[in-house]
Amino acid sequence: TIGMIVIDQNGHMAAGTSTNGLTHKVPGRVGDSPIIGAGAYVDSSAGGAAATGDGDVMMRFLPSYLAVELMRAGADPTAACVSAISRIKRHHSEFFGAIICANTTGHYGAACNKVPGFSQFHFMVSNPETNPPALKSVDCF
Ligand code: ASP
Repeated sequence: TIGMIVIDQNGHMAAGTSTNGLTHKVPGRVGDSPIIGAGAYVDSSAGGAAATGDGDVMMRFLPSYLAVELMRAGADPTAACVSAISRIKRHHSEFFGAIICANTTGHYGAACNKVPGFSQFHFMVSNPETNPPALKSVDCF
């Protein structure tokens, strides 16, 4: 999945995902990516989030919606991302997944669930201070 959160100069935010889904998926599978609140969610008055990973597990927890609502309530983007992953972990400790979060001021964060073979998540950031866009990473937990 490619997930993206953007803010324009007027503070309007957008988020989206593009995905090939899962290898060997059954015909007709929808997955999490096109589901608002699961694959991505955004509200220009709170922030945006986009998720990737085991969509069949993750979509049951609306992680992008949860992260945005936590930012609305005052959580910083990293804390919001961590909470969204933690919520899923509580029920599915072995799921593969990550989420990116950005708030209305352009602060951002990410989080991922640590499983064998997946201990870091990489993402790109582009803003007036990063030219060219910067590669960032977070350690999974
Ligand atoms: N979340 C996507 C899906 O389950 C897969 C991915 O993130 O690569 O369809």
